[in-house]
Amino acid sequence: MLYCPDCMHLSDPDTDICSNCGSRRLRAPKDNDPVYLLTESTEFVHTLQWLMEQDKIPYMDKNAELTTKPYVMNVRRLDIFVPYSFYGQSLQLAKDLFAAEQSENKGFVSEENSGEE
Ligand SMILES: [Zn+2]
Repeated sequence: MLYCPDCMHLSDPDTDICSNCGSRRLRAPKDNDPVYLLTESTEFVHTLQWLMEQDKIPYMDKNAELTTKPYVMNVRRLDIFVPYSFYGQSLQLAKDLFAAEQSENKGFVSEENSGEE
């Protein structure tokens, strides 16, 4: 992994250009570099932060733009960053949380409900 100090994203080591912002100043990440983890709804991020606090993972977040999807209310989203040394652990927590939320929501998803046009 290579680290972009301009936008704090990680990139594949086989490129010298940041896949997020196009910067060419990539370098090897240091343990304390804040690394972009994900952008998700405020609710998801707050749940993830709670899990991180249980595991003593430091984090920081910042407001991302409001996203508007058709037929869905405006959702405020948050970017969350973690120190590079906690990146793998945090990613695993996020994946577990995604999986938990998806199995929770299964009962509400109906694919036969699209005949309303
Ligand atoms: Zn970048």
